[in-house]
Amino acid sequence: MMSDYDDHNDSYSEDDITDLGTNNDNGNGVLCALCDDGGHLISCIGRCKRSFHPRMEDGIDSACRTLGYTYAELEKMGDYLCENCKYNQHQCFKCGELEPSAEPNAKVLKCENPSCGYFYHPKCVAKLLEPDAPEVDGSSVLAQRIKEGLPFTCPMHRCFNCGGTENRAQKAMQLAGCRRCPKSYHIGCLPREISFVTIGWNVPQRAWKLPGLVTIYCLDHKISVATGSAERGHIKFPHRRIVLGRQRLANIGLPRRFAGPGAVQAYNGLRRRLAGPSAARAVGASSNNQVVIDDEGPEADLDMDED
Ligand SMILES: [Zn+2]
Ligand SMILES: [Zn+2]
Ligand SMILES: [Zn+2]
Ligand SMILES: [Zn+2]
Ligand SMILES: [Zn+2]
Ligand SMILES: [Zn+2]
Repeated sequence: MMSDYDDHNDSYSEDDITDLGTNNDNGNGVLCALCDDGGHLISCIGRCKRSFHPRMEDGIDSACRTLGYTYAELEKMGDYLCENCKYNQHQCFKCGELEPSAEPNAKVLKCENPSCGYFYHPKCVAKLLEPDAPEVDGSSVLAQRIKEGLPFTCPMHRCFNCGGTENRAQKAMQLAGCRRCPKSYHIGCLPREISFVTIGWNVPQRAWKLPGLVTIYCLDHKISVATGSAERGHIKFPHRRIVLGRQRLANIGLPRRFAGPGAVQAYNGLRRRLAGPSAARAVGASSNNQVVIDDEGPEADLDMDED
């Protein structure tokens, strides 16, 4: 065990939690779903509750591939509805599979917490909620009941360590949710290796204080040296957008080593959001002259229409 980061929780001060926001949305209002950074974002008005960097320019600092809209497209946008919400196809936040999410044929269902935008296979979430429940034909009673419509609250709203719920009045009892999987910890229950600072080459930063919330990458995810974030390519949209003039820009202005989700930028994004609806919102526009920043390999998230 490393000895020089004993006090990582001490770098967390009371002032950092304000009532600007709530941890319930796990930062989805102020951080881009693609790259986990803040800045200029547009928020989906659908059930996913996520935000995204809309244009290439907005994603340069974080090497985000962005939604790839042009300025002109943003100008014309009304409310923005992401492709997942538009086509009712959402990913299971546990296994990552993209599935129909609208009845009567929903295969993934949304957590009933109103501020939570995560969807799950009944089996996946039941296994997380009751890991030891006996299974018949690979399915527990809880999984079956969720499949039949029993509302559920996903594991994001309880501490993975102690099982307790959040109490925002006490800093140690506030929940810090992982950006990549359904695991949250009370601030006071965070494993030592989930550090608020980078320590040498061995311990990358995995926890960030943002206005009104703390967000983490849990120990299940590898941190990319190039971006300081957990490895990407985790977001799947249901329909391939036409991408012409595709370029690889991964080396421009990068790497932003160990920068991770940027608190200052996130705060700017939050302020913009609080200032009122962005001028830039729209429904499902797509472009035929996009340039896409892609540091995750080709078509990492654009494979669904080939099934
Ligand atoms: Zn982004
Ligand atoms: Zn959405
Ligand atoms: Zn699943
Ligand atoms: Zn939830
Ligand atoms: Zn706890
Ligand atoms: Zn995780």
